[in-house]
Amino acid sequence: MPGNALPVSRLEDALSQLIRETPSLPMTVNGLLRDNPLLLAFSPGLESCFRLKRLHEFSAIFRISAAFWALLFAVLMGFTHLFFPELLSSGRFALWQNTCWLVGGIVVLANITAYLPSLHNGIYHYVIAPVSGLLLYLLLLGGAAYPDQTFNIHASYNAIIIMVLISYSMRLRWQVSGSVLMAAGVMAILTALAAGWKTSWLQAGHAYLLVGIVLSVIAFFVERRERLGFLQEVLVAIKSEELAQLNDHLSAMASKDALSGLSNRRAFDEFLNREWERGRREEQPLSILFMDVDFFKRYNDTYGHAAGDECLKQVARAMNQALLRPGDIVARYGGEEFVVLLPNTDVQGAMEVGDRLLAAVDALAIPHHSSDAAFHVTISIGIACMVPTERNGARNLLEEADRALYEAKSRGRHRMACLQPVATPTYNVDDIILMDIVKDHLPAKDNK
Ligand code: GH3
Ligand code: MG
Ligand code: MG
Repeated sequence: MPGNALPVSRLEDALSQLIRETPSLPMTVNGLLRDNPLLLAFSPGLESCFRLKRLHEFSAIFRISAAFWALLFAVLMGFTHLFFPELLSSGRFALWQNTCWLVGGIVVLANITAYLPSLHNGIYHYVIAPVSGLLLYLLLLGGAAYPDQTFNIHASYNAIIIMVLISYSMRLRWQVSGSVLMAAGVMAILTALAAGWKTSWLQAGHAYLLVGIVLSVIAFFVERRERLGFLQEVLVAIKSEELAQLNDHLSAMASKDALSGLSNRRAFDEFLNREWERGRREEQPLSILFMDVDFFKRYNDTYGHAAGDECLKQVARAMNQALLRPGDIVARYGGEEFVVLLPNTDVQGAMEVGDRLLAAVDALAIPHHSSDAAFHVTISIGIACMVPTERNGARNLLEEADRALYEAKSRGRHRMACLQPVATPTYNVDDIILMDIVKDHLPAKDNK
């Protein structure tokens, strides 16, 4: 019943947690399905998921079951009124009549609480078994009170139907169903003895035994079939979990650079296009910093390719740590080239970040004795900033940053440069006005 049942997400969460935390689960489940033992005993984790599933199923059909209880109760009362009116009217059967009131009240309450899913957990665990017992007690007590063969036969068949329906629709465990029945039978016999009713013990015992055996066997096989179905569901959930993990892994691989752990060029391009569109809608500036390690070919030649890789990793980590806003992104664009995208950032802000990036790489102080720029590994940065419009595109911003980088390189490296474009409607990338925003970072290697 949508809207009047417990949300299934709790069950799904519990199952996927069990799958994640129990690596041996696929083996256990496959083993159970293969061996198919008569008693399908689950491990504690699996058992608690199975019970949770039954609770959810109970919750989903409780509205119908509660209405069905009311119908059964009404039929029982009508049947008694028609054929055994004394049971309802004679003072001798006050106990039976009082129990009827109690059960009637519970049936009404069940119909109300069926609409309150927050109570279903408590009802499932603490109410269903005792109420089923009471219903059965009422029926068996009627049989014991009335030593008429017809009533006993009716009572036993009705009891079978009621208990099978209850244990199935209420998802009671077969052991619980069996115990409920025993308790109801024993209570009925003790009550009849205490009240001194004249009863046919042979018939009452026959009904009680018949109901007990039939019910327990049916409940056992119904539950067994459900357990097998649940195992199949777990297998499907395991496969989906494996697929989801594989998907996560593949998409991480597709967007991450293996050496540096930063985003790769593909992921960066996607991010740039998204931010470009956002900047265009919000009319906010977007800045790009293009970075290239200075004299890196010489670094490789001097220290070896493996040392070069290690150097790139350190530079990447330092750059990542130099970015403070969560929206900023740094990516490895290619070989020894990195790129930073700063959404909602103007030239001034971009130059501040550029300063921090230059300083962060300097602070690593990775020796580079064949560099003409410094004694250690350094980078050059080209900066570009634009407010995205219909007329220009993200590609223009990248080309602009690349030109600025070339400028920084040609002015001696280990510095940043920015060629600020004039954003007029006739703007075209070839009409760049060099504003000469070039910032030296550290003095070049003159003071060697
Ligand atoms: P410039 O200062 O002008 O940037 O000079 P450069 O030597 O850094 O520039 P160039 O483009 O000539 O050389 C880049 C070098 O980066 C060449 C290549 O061997 C090296 N490189 C690119 N990718 C990797 C990598 O993944 N690992 C290592 N160790 N080296 C790489
Ligand atoms: Mg390069
Ligand atoms: Mg280089």
